Amino acid sequence: MTTPTPAEIGQRSKEPTVVEIDGFRGRLISADHADYDIARAVWNGAIDRRPRLIARCIGTADVVAAVRFARDHDLEIAIRGGGHNVAGTAICDDGIVIDLSAMRAVRVDPADRRAWVQGGALWGDVDHETQAHGLATTGGIVSHTGVAGLTLGGGVGWLMRKHGLTVDNLLAVDVVTADGELLRASEDEHPDLFWALRGGGGNFGVVTSFEFRLHSVGPTVVAGPILWDATDAGRVLRFYRDFVRDAPDELGTVVRFGAAPPLPVIPEDLHWRPVVMIGTCYAGPMEDGEQVLRPLRASRTPLLDLVGPAPYVGFQSALDSTVVHGWNYYWKSTHLPELRDDLIDVIAEHAFSCSSPRSYVAMFHMEGAVARVAGDATAYAGRDAPHNIVIDAAWLPEQNKEIGATETEWARGFLDALEPHRAESVYVNFLGGDEDPDRVREAYGDPVYDRLVDVKTTYDPDNVFHHNQNIRPGTGTRISGTSRTCPN
Ligand SMILES: Cc1cc2nc3c(=O)[nH]c(=O)nc-3n(C[C@H](O)[C@H](O)[C@H](O)COP(=O)(O)OP(=O)(O)OC[C@H]3O[C@@H](n4cnc5c(N)ncnc54)[C@H](O)[C@@H]3O)c2cc1C
Repeated sequence: MTTPTPAEIGQRSKEPTVVEIDGFRGRLISADHADYDIARAVWNGAIDRRPRLIARCIGTADVVAAVRFARDHDLEIAIRGGGHNVAGTAICDDGIVIDLSAMRAVRVDPADRRAWVQGGALWGDVDHETQAHGLATTGGIVSHTGVAGLTLGGGVGWLMRKHGLTVDNLLAVDVVTADGELLRASEDEHPDLFWALRGGGGNFGVVTSFEFRLHSVGPTVVAGPILWDATDAGRVLRFYRDFVRDAPDELGTVVRFGAAPPLPVIPEDLHWRPVVMIGTCYAGPMEDGEQVLRPLRASRTPLLDLVGPAPYVGFQSALDSTVVHGWNYYWKSTHLPELRDDLIDVIAEHAFSCSSPRSYVAMFHMEGAVARVAGDATAYAGRDAPHNIVIDAAWLPEQNKEIGATETEWARGFLDALEPHRAESVYVNFLGGDEDPDRVREAYGDPVYDRLVDVKTTYDPDNVFHHNQNIRPGTGTRISGTSRTCPN
C-alpha cells in the first residue's frame, strides 16, 4: 500500500486514505474518514473548515511527530485543545490539526496541592479530579471549555479575585516548539517563554502538559444566581457597582443579561423572560458567604434567588447547557472601567435589544488578586480593568441567515455604543474571528506586545503557529504554508 503525499491526503473518494506519520501512534483522520465531520466540528457551529488531516494525538511523542511532519511538508498548523474558542482557531482549512482532544488526563497531588493536566483536558476534568480532595484552581465558568486555550490566554473565573487568574496558578508547562523540540518552561527554565505562555495564547508551541497550584475550595460553597426583570437592569447595576466595589476577594460575580435559560432550577414561567442575572460564588467559609451576599439579595425584590450552599463542582457546570455545542456564535468584547451612570445606561439600553433568545451578555467582575499581580509579571495585560464584558450573539444553525446577520449587527452595534465609555483593552480569549489585527495589540498594550514579539522571534521565527490571535515575529516572516512572507 502506498502512502499518499500530503497533497493527496483526503483527495481520494473511494477508499479511505492511508496516511502515515513517522513516530505517530494516535489516529489520523482525513477527509474521507467516516469520523471526519465530527472531528472537524468545534463548539462554534458557524465554523466550517476542512483541514487536510486531523492528527489526534495520544501522547507528547505524537505531538512532536505531527509538528515535524507539518513542517517537513509545509502544512498549515492549527492546534486543538478543547475546541471552544469562538474564533474557531482550533481548525484550519487545508492544513493539519494537531488535535489534543484525546489527551485529557489529570493527576493530582493533594499533599503538595498540585495538578498536572494534559493539553486536551476540559475544565470539567480538572474540577472533577481536584474537588475529590476539596481543591481547585481558577478555571472557566463553563465546564466544557478547554484548559489549554483558556490558560494560555489568561483565565478568568469565579475564583480569580481570591486566587488570581489561571495563569497566576500556573507553575510549569511542557511545550513542543516549532522545531518539534520538547521544552519545560517555568520561572526557572526558559523563563522568557514561560512569561509569554501566561497570556500570549497558542503562539509559542503546543502545550502538552500544565502544572497548576491548587487551593482549598469547598467542596460546598455558597453560590447561585439572583434574577431580576430586565426592566430593572439599570437600578440593579447601580447597586451592583457599589456592592462589588467593597466586596471581599472571596466573592466572584458575573452579571448575565439575556433571556432566562430553560434550566430545571428555573421555574417554567420565567423561561425565556428577559432578565438580569447576577451569578455569585463565595470561595470562603459558608457563614461569611451568606453574610456578604445578604445586601445584594435584599437590594430589590428579585424574580428568583437561588443563592445557597452548592457543590462547587456542580456549580461549575450549571451554565453548560446554556451554551450548546454546534449553535452559531459571534462575539464582541472589551474591558470596562468603573461602571459610571452613563455606561450603565448604555449597557441597559443595548443588552436586551438582540432578537435571538439565545444571545446574551456576560460581565465579569475582576480586581482583587488579579489586580495585585504586577502588570509585567505575565503576558496577561488586563489587570487594571475592573470589568470584562463579552457580547455573545447566538442562534440556531437551522435559523435563516438573516437572524445571524441581525444578531451579528447587534453585537457590533453594542460594542460601538460602548466605544466612548470602554477601557482600551480586551481579553484575548474573548476576541472573535473577524477582528481587526490591531485588536490583538490592544489586548496586550504596546509594552507587553513588543515583548511578546521578542519571545515569538526567539521560539517561532517562521510564525509556524499563526492560526490564533497572532503575534507576528520580528523579521520578514512566513504567514502560511507557502513561501509568502509578510512585513512586520
Ligand atoms: C461558552 C464559553 C465560555 C467561556 N468561559 C470562559 C471563562 O469563564 N473564562 C475564560 O477565561 N475564558 C472563557 N472562555 C474563552 C476561552 O478561554 C477560549 O475560548 C479558549 O480558547 C478555550 O480554550 P480551548 O482549549 O477550548 O480552545 P481551542 O478552541 O481548542 O483553541 C483555541 C486556541 O488556543 C490555542 N491552543 C489550544 N490548545 C493548545 C495547546 N494545547 N497548546 C498550545 N496552544 C493551544 C491555539 O492557538 C488555538 O487556536 C469561554 C469560551 C466559551 C465559548
